[in-house]
Amino acid sequence: MLRVKDLKVKYGVIEAVRGIDFEVKAGEIVTIIGANGAGKTSTLNAIFNVVKKEGYVEFVEADISKIPTHLIVKRGLALVPEGRKIFINLTVEENLRIGAYLNDENYERLRDEMYELFPRLKDKKDNYGGSLSGGEQQMLAIARALMSEPKMLVLDEPSLGLAPKIVKDVFQILVNLNKEKDVTILLVEQNAGAALRIANRGYVMENGSIVLEDDAKALLQSEEIKKKYLGG
Ligand code: ATP
Repeated sequence: MLRVKDLKVKYGVIEAVRGIDFEVKAGEIVTIIGANGAGKTSTLNAIFNVVKKEGYVEFVEADISKIPTHLIVKRGLALVPEGRKIFINLTVEENLRIGAYLNDENYERLRDEMYELFPRLKDKKDNYGGSLSGGEQQMLAIARALMSEPKMLVLDEPSLGLAPKIVKDVFQILVNLNKEKDVTILLVEQNAGAALRIANRGYVMENGSIVLEDDAKALLQSEEIKKKYLGG
């Protein structure tokens, strides 16, 4: 579904992404794990053409390397950005409305679907985004991205700043979306343990390069991964 070839991102002399290749097949949950600064966010921003890049990106058999961000979203690829980036001065419902800006004729149906998926958001529909807990804000960010009815959801560190129990809840929602709504998922995470437990496959990123790829189960059992990313 998504194919990335020889992707490079440079900020002046800093090579944040050094020619990486990876793919996500329809129906999969794939994770890219790596430490802070490994180049994960730059990779996602490059796919969405939010930063300048070199290389090739294909989505559902079409070259999207050079098309603008809103047209990428229109093709069915949606991003839940790092730090959630919800609108704190707008209500939950207004945040969802913005998520449907390319899909306005379906707004009410989609909003109701989101309230079914995330009952807490329904309870808080008139509350300001900024008044929600971290977990609720993450759920709102996911719901907002789903308002474009994506075939594939890309998430940048959704576990950041959340308590382990809340991480579990958020990741369970991703599993349900994947199984029940047929949403393919690319999950970028520093929390390697949580990500590998729900993923089918994983890539390990270090210093702008992919240094390892395998089934998620194999990565979870690898001594090297345990030592470096899973706290021994
Ligand atoms: P994080 O967990 O912090 O998001 P990451 O793995 O996503 O880390 P990136 O944010 O992609 O990594 O950063 C990769 C490298 O590029 C780092 O060395 C970072 O300092 C650098 N970098 C990122 N954005 C910029 C920028 N706008 N200008 C200059 N350097 C940048």
